Amino acid sequence: MTEKPTNKAQKLERIRTEILSSGICPDLAHSATNLVMGRGSPSAKIVFIGEAPGKNEDLQGVPFVGAAGKFLDEMLSTINLSIDEVYITNIVKYRPPNNRDPLPEEKRAFWPFLVRELQIVQPKLLITLGRHSMEYFLPGKRITEIHGQPKRIMFGNGKLVVLPLYHPAAALYNGGLRNTLLEDFLTIPAVLSLVNE
Ligand code: URA
Repeated sequence: MTEKPTNKAQKLERIRTEILSSGICPDLAHSATNLVMGRGSPSAKIVFIGEAPGKNEDLQGVPFVGAAGKFLDEMLSTINLSIDEVYITNIVKYRPPNNRDPLPEEKRAFWPFLVRELQIVQPKLLITLGRHSMEYFLPGKRITEIHGQPKRIMFGNGKLVVLPLYHPAAALYNGGLRNTLLEDFLTIPAVLSLVNE
């Protein structure tokens, strides 16, 4: 029997509470304004995973609401996907100071919580945005070589398709990367129908 969305939402909410009381990454927790969990549908078939909240996300407590998030929303609308059909989250859930890259130990600390988030949402297609989330699902790969190429992986007890994409923030101000990301994004509907077969 499939779980009711409200049930999944409650389970995701429980993860938030656990992170808040876990003492995880105390320096980040101290400098951040908010813990930033996911947005979108807790029952989505597609999950996007970024790296860590930026300034706007930290202030609002919601992922991908700044410039990169607006670009992501625009790209979603080009393939007729609404926010209700996807779930968007980050590997690290506190903003690193001055938007520095998340440290390996920060990613490691948040990884078990991301795994649980994915076990609750149970997506069929996981889209990594940038190398920080990609390296956890496709270790040892280079984004320059495999972006836009769906890969089947084992995840927990099941199979999952991972589509590695460039991060929208990196593509925003780089015309070449922007075109590449837009082209890769347009393949999502075909990848999704493959995954649904
Ligand atoms: N970049 C990310 O990786 N995540 C956000 O939430 C915002 C910007």
